[in-house]
Amino acid sequence: MKRAIFPGTFDPFTIGHYSIVQRGLSLFDEIVIGIGLNQTKKSLFSVEKRLEMIRQAFEGEHRVKVQSYNSLTIDFALAVQAEYVLRGLRTVGDFEYERTIADTNRKLTGIETVILFTESDYSFISSTVARDLISFGKDISAFLPPNVVL
Ligand code: ADP
Repeated sequence: MKRAIFPGTFDPFTIGHYSIVQRGLSLFDEIVIGIGLNQTKKSLFSVEKRLEMIRQAFEGEHRVKVQSYNSLTIDFALAVQAEYVLRGLRTVGDFEYERTIADTNRKLTGIETVILFTESDYSFISSTVARDLISFGKDISAFLPPNVVL
């Protein structure tokens, strides 16, 4: 059984995140989406709301699970017995950060990171921009996975 975690803040979970998980399902038997809560930054969406949005997005897809976690990402991976970390790469700006984390995680535990390039249609989509739009009262349904309503 090949299991990966897909960790992130997901504040909110966007169609870009959704696309990475969907594509990851052709590589892994099971993907555990992990909402990391160890950051000091305050989120716009509560963890309960983020869990609900992700459950809505993957309703009927039994190979996708979702949980929140309060630990280091690699400790979460070990706790759910995942051998891989799945991540998405949008721009060159994401690259250095992802590489540093991936190298650290592999050095500490042997867990490999698998990175998928974002579909070009979604590469401009970010949770940060989605939050900015919401704060100015804009509709962000085009940024969300199908079947997800805020
Ligand atoms: P983090 O705070 O760990 O960066 P995010 O919730 O922003 O968490 O992102 C989680 C993962 O999803 C990261 O690998 C990120 O690069 C990827 N990601 C974010 N936005 C998109 C997108 N539009 N398309 C594909 N992958 C994305």
